[in-house]
Amino acid sequence: MTTTPDVPSPPVPPLRRMADGTVKQINPFTGTEVWTVPGRANRPIDHAPDHVAAVDPDAAEAHCAFCVTRLRETTPEKARLVRDGSTWTVLDEVAPDHLDRTTPEFRLFGNLFEIVSMDYWKAVHGYRMSDRAATHQRAYLASPAGADQVRALVRARIAAAQGDPAAVDSMTTDELAAHSESFFGGCHDVVAARRHLTDGATRTDRHASSGSLTPDEHEQFVAFTVRAMRCLYRDNPHARYVSVFQNWLKPAGASFAHLHKQLVAIDQAPAKTDRELAALSIVPDLYNTLGVDVAAAEGLVLAANEHAVAVVGVGHRYPALVIYSRSVASLPWEHSPEEVRGISDLLHACHAATGPLVPCNEEWHARPPGVGVAMPWRIVLKWRISNPAGFEGATGIFVNTIDPWSLRDRVAPRLAELRDAGRIADMMLGAECGDVRGSLRYGR
Ligand SMILES: [Zn+2]
Repeated sequence: MTTTPDVPSPPVPPLRRMADGTVKQINPFTGTEVWTVPGRANRPIDHAPDHVAAVDPDAAEAHCAFCVTRLRETTPEKARLVRDGSTWTVLDEVAPDHLDRTTPEFRLFGNLFEIVSMDYWKAVHGYRMSDRAATHQRAYLASPAGADQVRALVRARIAAAQGDPAAVDSMTTDELAAHSESFFGGCHDVVAARRHLTDGATRTDRHASSGSLTPDEHEQFVAFTVRAMRCLYRDNPHARYVSVFQNWLKPAGASFAHLHKQLVAIDQAPAKTDRELAALSIVPDLYNTLGVDVAAAEGLVLAANEHAVAVVGVGHRYPALVIYSRSVASLPWEHSPEEVRGISDLLHACHAATGPLVPCNEEWHARPPGVGVAMPWRIVLKWRISNPAGFEGATGIFVNTIDPWSLRDRVAPRLAELRDAGRIADMMLGAECGDVRGSLRYGR
């Protein structure tokens, strides 16, 4: 392995099995130390929900504020994706009086409670919402139904901040507009899927997860999210980075057990991204040598297709599956539809093999726009099955209950079953992938 003093390359092998079976890992990119001690890998990892009830499978879904029968409980839609057979169409800014005319398979709307607020962007950067968003807001508030929806949301947000929600009742349209700017021009968005529960579910714990979508639906979910990512960069010239992630189930940070992704614009690249960019300027092939090649050498390649490769990650705080794009392009929206489909298929397969009861975070990593270094788009799926505690805080060493080889041995048979059953797209699995070393083509 090529090393220089400036590259975050470990001084010891990234993966070592000790004499008693303890596995020590060091993340080749970040240096994060992770240990797995023997005998803990077989603990049950499924999350048991607090309360399970029977559902009427014939009744329309109304389990949470993201359900499609409660379209007016979210901020006004920025866009929706509708389906007619195999034709998928984006409808931008559906009018409040037309919300029920079509069924959205996926919806894009602003997060009512932003991580980075509109006030932050305005105060720190002098951000103003785009003319398009302002036009959308004016049209929405001009409709009595739209104004009622916005008023109820402003009331909910003021109540959550311990304010007096009654103050909203006497607000003029201008005041309502001032209090609802973030709904239309904010920079923290949500993409929610149509289903809350799987089709025909009879119990409230049968949540429709990423893995329960069809490969076609999942492709549309990813492509629609890529489009939303690009829109955030387009509409906020101060956005240096857009973080895209999915929290699944409460232990992974989800407020609703209803499938959704989030997009948050921030005004700097994360420090870890800057470190990787600096390392890439010295070793351009970093993601092959420290990523795919390390996985291949340890027998941790799970699946591949023409456009992507999925491996078990080394040195993550939680058991992690990593999907690397093999595209020449760095930015997600510069990937061809076929390339997006390739990544989506492997991500979908990893979700399906994980199963709907395992809390997990899906984290997208992509090069910030406007940077002159190539970097592959990659997605990490982390199983949130343990809680770092005092030992981790005191030592900086994370105890991960499943080592990479055990994770491979759990996931690989599931992938084979799912492929045989036609539940995931066709792809190469394990040894069928051949030699994937050096197969990331970013920047070439
Ligand atoms: Zn729901």
